Amino acid sequence: MDVKNKIVKAHDLSFQKYLSEEKIAERIAVLGKEIAAQYENKNPLFIAVLNGAFVFAADLMRACGDMACEVSFVKLSSYDGLASSGKVETILGLDTSIEGREIIVIEDIVDTGKTLFQFLQHLGKFNPASISLASLLVKPDAIQYHFPIAYVGFNIPNKFVVGYGLDYNGAGRNFAAIYQLIESTSSES
Ligand code: 5GP
Repeated sequence: MDVKNKIVKAHDLSFQKYLSEEKIAERIAVLGKEIAAQYENKNPLFIAVLNGAFVFAADLMRACGDMACEVSFVKLSSYDGLASSGKVETILGLDTSIEGREIIVIEDIVDTGKTLFQFLQHLGKFNPASISLASLLVKPDAIQYHFPIAYVGFNIPNKFVVGYGLDYNGAGRNFAAIYQLIESTSSES
């Protein structure tokens, strides 16, 4: 099979390879260097948004070299299957004080932006020194809530993706590459 066009299945849906493992790694290496240059000696606290960002967070942190830093995790929820429910809930909270800290929030993907927008407002209440955002993927055509994202891996079209931590109803997080949903044509449905 031509690996470039590799097709994978998650539950009932088929997905086509969109971003290779190598391409993702190359981009993260660049982002890591940028973060390391900006946060050297600032001991930033990464806040990784579970579940989707766990793979990206692990690679991004290590791409920052031996810079002093810490990591904490939060779990938010707004998605059910393929569509956002529009309601953002914090399921697992911060286990560390962020007052006076330099914060880098790590997200897997910004779609409408609602999840991060609400989370940023929540974080702001705890008086951090600064907050910046790192998102592996951004869907510019879907964004409804606008805020600066300092570190963007890739801008992608407004299509559902899985892999590299992102799931479809729990499946596909283990795929090393990122795959895009193959949408069925109307004649198939
Ligand atoms: P937003 O609040 O920006 O609309 O949605 C952000 C969250 O929705 C992400 O953290 C992610 O969990 C989920 N999400 C948005 N788009 C996709 C997608 O294409 N694939 C997957 N697997 N999750 C997505």
